[in-house]
Amino acid sequence: MWLPALLLLLLLLITLTILRLLHTHHTRRNQIPISINYHFTRRCNYTCGFCFHTASTSHMETPSRAKDALRLLAQAGMKKLNFAGGEPFLYPKFLGELIDFCKQDLHLESVSVVTNGSLIKESFLRKHGKNLDILAVSCDSFNEATNVRIGRGTGDQVKKLYQIAEWCAKYGILFKVNTVVNRLNHTEDMNVHLSELKPFRWKCFQVLIVEGENDTKQTLRNGHDFIISDEEFAQFCEAQGLMAKSYLILDEYLRFLDRTGKQPSGSVLEVGVKKALESVFWDEDAFLERGGLYDWVKPESKACGGEGRESLAW
Ligand code: SF4
Repeated sequence: MWLPALLLLLLLLITLTILRLLHTHHTRRNQIPISINYHFTRRCNYTCGFCFHTASTSHMETPSRAKDALRLLAQAGMKKLNFAGGEPFLYPKFLGELIDFCKQDLHLESVSVVTNGSLIKESFLRKHGKNLDILAVSCDSFNEATNVRIGRGTGDQVKKLYQIAEWCAKYGILFKVNTVVNRLNHTEDMNVHLSELKPFRWKCFQVLIVEGENDTKQTLRNGHDFIISDEEFAQFCEAQGLMAKSYLILDEYLRFLDRTGKQPSGSVLEVGVKKALESVFWDEDAFLERGGLYDWVKPESKACGGEGRESLAW
C-alpha cells in the first residue's frame, strides 16, 4: 500500500527537479546585458586603501577592439554603458572616442562615467558632454584630511567636486555622487554639502572586500582596516547591500567577471556575448531590485541637479 505512494512521491520530486533545472537553464540562456560597467583600465592615480578593482594588470584594448565588443553587446540588448576603472580619465582620448561612439553610432540610451574627478578638464566636457548622460564622481568625505587618509588625493578633492558640479550644469550632464562608506567616514554628516551640490542621485556603498583584490596583505590593497558593520552602514545611509553581485562587469580584456569568484568568461570578441554571459553568474534579479533600471537619460532641458525622478516607464 505504502510502496506505490512512495514511488509516486519520488516521481513527483524528480519531475519537479527537472522542471526547476529546465527553468534555470532557460532563464540563464535568455539573460540580456541591459546595463554594463566597462572597466577598461585598472590603472589609477589614487591609492584608496579599500580599492577593489586594483591595478593588477596594465592591459587595455585598442579603441577598435573595444568598439567591436561594444557593438556586439548593443546587438545583444545593452542599453546603458558605464565607463569605470581604475580611473577612466587617465585616458581622455580613448574615453572621449568611446563615449561619442556609444551615443552617435550605437545610440545607447545612457552613457555614463564613474571617476574620482581629479583629472577631468572642462575642455573634455565641452567636447564630449553632449554624448554623456551621467558623470558620477566619487566623494567619500568633505574633510580633506579624511580623503588623504583614505588615499583620495592630496587635499583638493572637495574644491574639484564643486567645480565638476558647475561644469555638469553648464554642459547638460547629470551629476551624481558616489560614496564608499567605511571606517573613516561612517560618522560624517554630509548633508550640508550634498544639499549644496544637488546631485541628481547620491549613492552610498558599503566598503567591499573582494577576493584577490583587497582581501589580504599580499593583494595590492587590504581593505580590512576600512570595514564597517551592516548596522554602521545602515546608520549612515539607506542600505544597498546588493551591490556585489548585481553589476555586470566587463573587464579590461572584454571578459565578464563572475560575481561568485569563478574564472571570468572568454572575451566577448572570441566567444560571443551569449556564451560569455552564460559562463558567469551575475544577479539579474538583484540588479532590478536595487533599481538598476532607474531613469538614466538626461532630460531634454539639459538641466543638472534637483530631485531624482521616477523609473523609466519601460
Ligand atoms: S579612485 Fe577608485 S579606482 Fe582609484 S584607487 Fe580609489 S577606489 Fe580604486
